[in-house]
Amino acid sequence: MARYTDAVCKLCRREGMKLYLKGERCFTPKCAIERRNYPPGQHGPTRRSRRKVSDFGRQLREKQKVRRIYGVYERQFRRYFRQAVKAKGMTGTALLQLLERRLDNVVYRMGLASSRAQARQLVTHGHITVNGRKVDIASYSVRPGDIIGVKETSRKKRYFKDLAEEFGQRQTPPKWLDVDVANMTATVVALPEREDIQDVPINEQLIVEFYSR
Ligand code: SF4
Repeated sequence: MARYTDAVCKLCRREGMKLYLKGERCFTPKCAIERRNYPPGQHGPTRRSRRKVSDFGRQLREKQKVRRIYGVYERQFRRYFRQAVKAKGMTGTALLQLLERRLDNVVYRMGLASSRAQARQLVTHGHITVNGRKVDIASYSVRPGDIIGVKETSRKKRYFKDLAEEFGQRQTPPKWLDVDVANMTATVVALPEREDIQDVPINEQLIVEFYSR
């Protein structure tokens, strides 16, 4: 599937906030939001202050923001939304829950990668297992009880050898993942809750309104 390959920092600048798409760089002064926090393009510096944003515009931006955070294309995002509508409870929460359950997101959350893009690469290159079996589908949806780990042969690779030294210190995993640092695995102990998704402010109700027009 085709992926967005343009400079990803532009996406953060478009949304006016850090979306943490580039791993460690996002926490340094090199971050484009730290240096140029205005929309990309020739008229970017003046555009944000002058433009009046409509309800539709706000809904669209929120949808684009979440899509970009999780690296999901429109068609797949819409599919998640349709699934969320059928789920029990609040549609917006169900949508975020489905996105959080993606295998690439779990690999990122458990600290095996510094960004979701890197996590996706680890998955698609066949380094990740679920319950001991290789799974190379980034959109694979984890369930409670699943154990996510690194393939035995992959653990001998330089990347994972280096990672082993700092694994567990990189980021704090959410409470729905029980991380075993020694074995580089994480067990899904529950479904993610809305309060577990706090790293970027999201107003999921705007996304529901966008698709309900
Ligand atoms: Fe780039 Fe990360 Fe900063 Fe976004 S948060 S602008 S991806 S460095």
